[in-house]
Amino acid sequence: MKPSIHIGNIVYELTEACNQCCRFCYNYWRDGSTPLPPPAPRLVRKTLRKLLSQASVSTISFSGGEPMLLRSIHDLAMLARFKGSNVNVLTNGGLLTDDAVTNFKNIGVGAVQIPLLSADPAIHDFLTQVPGSWEKAVAATRRAVAAFGKGVYTVLVITKVNAPGVPETLRLLGDLGVKGVMVNRFNIGGMGLKHCKELLLDPATLRKAFADVETFAAGHPDIRFVSGVCTPICVMDSAPYPHIQFTYCTTDFTRRPVTVNYKGDVRFCNHSPYILGNIYDKPVGEILKDPDVIARYAAVPDRCRDCALLSKCNGGCRAASEQVYGTFAEADPLLVEA
Ligand code: SF4
Ligand code: SF4
Ligand code: SF4
Repeated sequence: MKPSIHIGNIVYELTEACNQCCRFCYNYWRDGSTPLPPPAPRLVRKTLRKLLSQASVSTISFSGGEPMLLRSIHDLAMLARFKGSNVNVLTNGGLLTDDAVTNFKNIGVGAVQIPLLSADPAIHDFLTQVPGSWEKAVAATRRAVAAFGKGVYTVLVITKVNAPGVPETLRLLGDLGVKGVMVNRFNIGGMGLKHCKELLLDPATLRKAFADVETFAAGHPDIRFVSGVCTPICVMDSAPYPHIQFTYCTTDFTRRPVTVNYKGDVRFCNHSPYILGNIYDKPVGEILKDPDVIARYAAVPDRCRDCALLSKCNGGCRAASEQVYGTFAEADPLLVEA
């Protein structure tokens, strides 16, 4: 049967489990208090097949948790490639061996994203809560750059802890040959709720960190910088940072990363905890076009109602509002917490 809907970008969560316990992890199911279920390879494959029978997908990003915990990840990537999707892998790099990189390359995986949080191993490991994770992330980055070149993105999550070292971190990335950097401010959610006080940047420190990125980016035009987490424009305007590409949130599912997990649950995006429906009950296209779902995301926060920037800013990251306040109708909690 031909898929009845086209979706540009899906984040497919292969597992809740992870071999790290990052203080900033936004996964809504994580607060560090309960053991996570082990990967369920059969269900992961079955759900992927189901999803790709319901929708044609331009790009599918394998995420988690840690997607490399699925030994079958290469088969899953092949399945998605066979169905015509570009495949990206979002991994912490700990299990990204030479063989894994070679296999991904042969299958035609397009991009790999690996977080590298500091030039200082102690700071990286403090944030991931796993001793030795910095060395693994650096080694994985080297391997991935050698195989994928511009297809490698470093994810630099900027928190209060690593913000002062941003210039040194960027120099390390330059030395490693990285050509793409996602500069994401710490976004409240998951484990980050617990560690909010120690991680959340005040607006001045946030702007200083982005100014450091801008300075480096201006001097390195061969490296692409993208800010992937929307920040309320009233907290930080993108104008002073012309060498960083800022993205803003949209409720249009054709232009945002719709998220589906291995059980078939569909969510607004990977930060959102709210389940819109399940693809075993209803095709993903029907879930996304459901009038109740559309109404849920049409709400405008009171404080943004008269703001001239609303159509661009959309109230910041409101999946973070869902995690903190339980509703999409409030503006980004950064406005209150920072
Ligand atoms: S941020 Fe990624 S690597 Fe870190 S705990 Fe969460 S899923 Fe694992
Ligand atoms: S839309 Fe809301 S969050 Fe965005 S700039 Fe306006 S008031 Fe601030
Ligand atoms: S709600 Fe937040 S995480 Fe989700 S797409 Fe929008 S900005 Fe990104």
